[in-house]
Amino acid sequence: MLDSSLWTRRNSGCIVAVVAHPDDETIGLGGQLGSIADITLVHVTDGAPRTRPDWKTHAQIRRAELLAAAAMAGIPEHSCLELGVADQEASMHLVELACFLSRLLDQLRPEVVFTHTYEGAHPDHDATAFAIHNAIRLRVERGEKTPDLIEFPSYHHRPRDGRIETGTFLPWPYIEPFRMVLSKEARSLKRRMLSCFQTQKERLANFPDDAEIFRVAPAYDFTNAPHAELSPYGAFRWGVTGREWRRLARHAQQMLGSSMPLMAEAKRPAPLIQDWYE
Ligand SMILES: [Zn+2]
Repeated sequence: MLDSSLWTRRNSGCIVAVVAHPDDETIGLGGQLGSIADITLVHVTDGAPRTRPDWKTHAQIRRAELLAAAAMAGIPEHSCLELGVADQEASMHLVELACFLSRLLDQLRPEVVFTHTYEGAHPDHDATAFAIHNAIRLRVERGEKTPDLIEFPSYHHRPRDGRIETGTFLPWPYIEPFRMVLSKEARSLKRRMLSCFQTQKERLANFPDDAEIFRVAPAYDFTNAPHAELSPYGAFRWGVTGREWRRLARHAQQMLGSSMPLMAEAKRPAPLIQDWYE
């Protein structure tokens, strides 16, 4: 059974969080960050869409917001890696990201990796999930030790009516989410960290700050939509539709040399990710 001792126990090894944008780490696991001894934050994008004429300045501001929030949790700047992909363009770099992250795992050798769930709401979130799942698979195929992959939700369209939901997962058979009610101190830290992201203030008001939810990452088939796709990415004008995203995922999967496991293979009770890929 998953519980927080996996990442908060003393003397545990390095932990890595691979997220799409500055602020996703705080939304997903901000309440945990103050109690993890050794964590590296990896941001795939700089949070600055290139459609903005001021994107360079915006990227600098978002980086400064992140570093301020990380410092509150005791995470130094050298533990905040940024891969520099443009906001909304991570799905154009799936192969490079998977290969880079695989090499990064070689170096850091984490015991636990946190990342986004595959939820069909933001193409960068799903691209990040695709990349780290494949980075781990590449390690499995080389016979190397792999971390436990734990995921957190950001937001998704509720399958029955398309409304935006935050703080919950799309259901997955046999994998129970672990909901962690934050202590007073953890909640306070999370709120203070969230307040650092002034450029995202309105959006962040929609996320809960009293609890965080995690689960062992299922073995997704990224070439299929994660749900009935009532409102594909295109509804947000993020430059890619769900169908286009999956075309990019299929192509990247071919380039990476293997297909993801069949959905049926994942329907075993609560396996850790290395089990699914064996
Ligand atoms: Zn994000």
